[in-house]
Amino acid sequence: MSPRIKVLRKVSNPPVIKGFKPYGQESGKKNSEIVNLLYEEYEAIRLSDYDMLNHHQASVMMGVSRPTFTRIYASALHKTAKAFVEGKQISIEGGKVYFDSEWYHCEKCVCYFNNPEKEKPVENCPLCNSERVDKFDYENTVESNTDTKHK
Ligand SMILES: [Zn+2]
Repeated sequence: MSPRIKVLRKVSNPPVIKGFKPYGQESGKKNSEIVNLLYEEYEAIRLSDYDMLNHHQASVMMGVSRPTFTRIYASALHKTAKAFVEGKQISIEGGKVYFDSEWYHCEKCVCYFNNPEKEKPVENCPLCNSERVDKFDYENTVESNTDTKHK
């Protein structure tokens, strides 16, 4: 287990969605520009406005200083407001983050699961018991921005 790089921001779990699409726009006026919300910006909104933490608590959760948190949060709000007002899509991806839990991917039943006991390596899929499990490397996914992983 290598130590985590300090500049990465901690995100508890990947968002359940990849983004939002506006609806109800007049046809022909569709705005194809996409606002890209980074994972850490998503997390800042989640901690602050969903979990109702104050900025100090939220910064501790993400492993960043309070001014850094405030900057991430301000950027997140600005982007969200821009998407709302201008009717733009939001995509949630990218950013300098790592996820709190270790995630694995089963090649047989194509499920994702995490490992709550970090000391014990995962050998079997908890659903189908297959041994074809792979560590799902979010850091690489985030950095290279590709969804495919080859073994
Ligand atoms: Zn499986």
